[in-house]
Amino acid sequence: MLEWELPIDSGTVPEDGASFDVIIVGGGPGGSAAAAYMAMGGANVLLLEKAIYPRDKTCGDAVGGKSLKHVEEIGVKAVLEKTNHFRVDGIIFGAPNGKEVRISLPEDEVENREAGYSLPRKQFDSLLFRNANEKVLEAGGSVIQNFTVKEVHIEDGVVTGISGIHEKNSYHFTAPLTIGAGGYNCPVARAVVAHHDEPMVDKKHYCGAYREYWTGVEGCEDWKGAIEIHFIEGVVPGYFWIFPVGNGVVNVGIGMVIAEMDKQKVKLRGLQDWVINEDVKFSKRFANAKMVEKSGKGWQLPFGSPRKNAPSFQPRRAAMAGAMCIGDAASLVDPFTGEGIGNALLSAKMASDAFDLKKHKAGFTTESAEEYQNKLWKELSAELTNSYKLQRLVKRKRLMNFFIGKAVKKVELQRALTDMIASKEAQGQFHSKWWMIKTLLF
Ligand SMILES: Cc1cc2nc3c(=O)[nH]c(=O)nc-3n(C[C@H](O)[C@H](O)[C@H](O)COP(=O)(O)OP(=O)(O)OC[C@H]3O[C@@H](n4cnc5c(N)ncnc54)[C@H](O)[C@@H]3O)c2cc1C
Repeated sequence: MLEWELPIDSGTVPEDGASFDVIIVGGGPGGSAAAAYMAMGGANVLLLEKAIYPRDKTCGDAVGGKSLKHVEEIGVKAVLEKTNHFRVDGIIFGAPNGKEVRISLPEDEVENREAGYSLPRKQFDSLLFRNANEKVLEAGGSVIQNFTVKEVHIEDGVVTGISGIHEKNSYHFTAPLTIGAGGYNCPVARAVVAHHDEPMVDKKHYCGAYREYWTGVEGCEDWKGAIEIHFIEGVVPGYFWIFPVGNGVVNVGIGMVIAEMDKQKVKLRGLQDWVINEDVKFSKRFANAKMVEKSGKGWQLPFGSPRKNAPSFQPRRAAMAGAMCIGDAASLVDPFTGEGIGNALLSAKMASDAFDLKKHKAGFTTESAEEYQNKLWKELSAELTNSYKLQRLVKRKRLMNFFIGKAVKKVELQRALTDMIASKEAQGQFHSKWWMIKTLLF
């Protein structure tokens, strides 16, 4: 058994009724990072996780440069690099007409191990949770696995704590701040939006996704190379991905905005079967491949695309007195690439910066909650808005064929795409009409 696969000892369960500086609901990447950042800042943290580690999480398994910065800050990068992982040095984009362009990630970032990795989430999340577990216990806090938060307590408009179940026993814990890091169906996020009478799910901004692991896929044998995103005729406006995770194992999946799935009446699993078995190009690459048993799972991605008529905050309300949400619980997944780990880690850092141990001892106020929400959108609005525009662009099949056809031949366009992937801010130039026309036509 590898070291990261060993069970994680979280120590003793605190007494029912105990109080903490911060309660964190969910120990995925967002919750684990928030717990580590806050414990490093001296907070007495209670970290609650429904599953028992190591646990799987349905994902594409790509961990980009944005994530790696935080992974390093919380002290996990060196440990991660000692475990098996696939090093991503480029992205292949495939057009509906079958043409492909390979965009290389910046060489220096690949060389400095800052560009990105892909590795099973079971492994990545275990490394992050193990680190959080260690840091929280060292700082005098508590961690409980196999703890399901059932209720979020709100008194006079302020979140005061949670109650939940561990090994059939009920517990109630309190804190001036509760962090919602429970993913797309987080109970804290539900309580925050319900308290304001606002919606949790917007099908135009929620994505359905289905993933399987395969071995023996042609072209995916190495430990270093490109991840692949294909806009296939019959799958657009969704996309089909092939992300090697090393050791000859490949994460293969398909994603589509839920409103589009409803409109087209498609089931993602069936669509994926069709691509792998029937599509002329891909059926050849999967001819000798084998699916890893029971690895097929569906999940949802709450996108961070701007809502046209947001009832209050963009992309949706993620904080109130006594609570802040992060990662998927705050609906922060990139609407073009489907990446959510980077923003889960970034929002974890921002939430930990927004909490002042001394100032908020007496309560995390509405003003502080709004400040966090405003800062979050200020930080992410440009890239999420641009990604949303790109998501809408790929709906136009002919435009995609034309665009990828040009990118195959034009180095300038390839370089711009490299910049775009490395720095989200550079996406802006794709919406400068003059730049587009100049690059595509001349
Ligand atoms: C198919 C698919 C492919 C994806 N591909 C990528 C990719 O390649 N790269 C990328 O960056 N992102 C990808 N994403 C998005 C990414 O998976 C998420 O954005 C990321 O996991 C968000 O992290 P999080 O910590 O906010 O939430 P999660 O990872 O969902 O973690 C939430 C945690 O909370 C726990 N929890 C939930 N409810 C409770 C409760 N009531 N009590 C206690 N604990 C609870 C859960 O057990 C879980 O451990 C993909 C998503 C999907 C579905």
